[in-house]
Amino acid sequence: MKVKKEGQGKLFNNPLLEVFTKTNPVLHVGTYGGAAIVIASFNQLPTISALYLFPAGIICWTLFEYMLHRFVFHMRESKLQYTIHGVHHEYPKDRERLMMPPLPGSILVCLFYGLWYLFLGNYTPLFMCGFLAGYLGYTFVHHIIHAWKPLPGLKFLWTHHLKHHNPAFEDKAYGVSTPLWDYLFGTMPSAKNNK
Ligand SMILES: [Zn+2]
Ligand SMILES: [Zn+2]
Repeated sequence: MKVKKEGQGKLFNNPLLEVFTKTNPVLHVGTYGGAAIVIASFNQLPTISALYLFPAGIICWTLFEYMLHRFVFHMRESKLQYTIHGVHHEYPKDRERLMMPPLPGSILVCLFYGLWYLFLGNYTPLFMCGFLAGYLGYTFVHHIIHAWKPLPGLKFLWTHHLKHHNPAFEDKAYGVSTPLWDYLFGTMPSAKNNK
């Protein structure tokens, strides 16, 4: 697939369905920040529990982000794979498709809440707030990597993710918010891959 420096991919012929595949930063923060506020209101534990549940949620997110990107976003090429991720590799500068749109995203938040609740019960609300904060952190980092010039001290994040966008290294550098899991799971691009 040839990488396009501008333009936007078309995912559906139906214009209404096409609208639901796009988003923007304000809508994005409103959707997932709003979801975190609602979920925090379900908490029945002492607020101090957030001191460990919130960071645990963030760390869990970074591992989930790695697994999702590696095994779901980069599953065998298909229409589904193109819709959820391939389109971003073809049009990496399309800012409307850097984040999960609100409608499918809200459904996923509900599903994840239920899933975590099975394992964590009452610990879920504060943990899920951290998980959502991790997700927002990831999308913020992903957005600025594609939209801004590298920030001082954080250039390694740009180098790491933009290497993933080089078709030669698509099977490397799956972590966006942190390269940690690439180190641990052996998908760090080697130094000699550096261009
Ligand atoms: Zn990718
Ligand atoms: Zn990207």
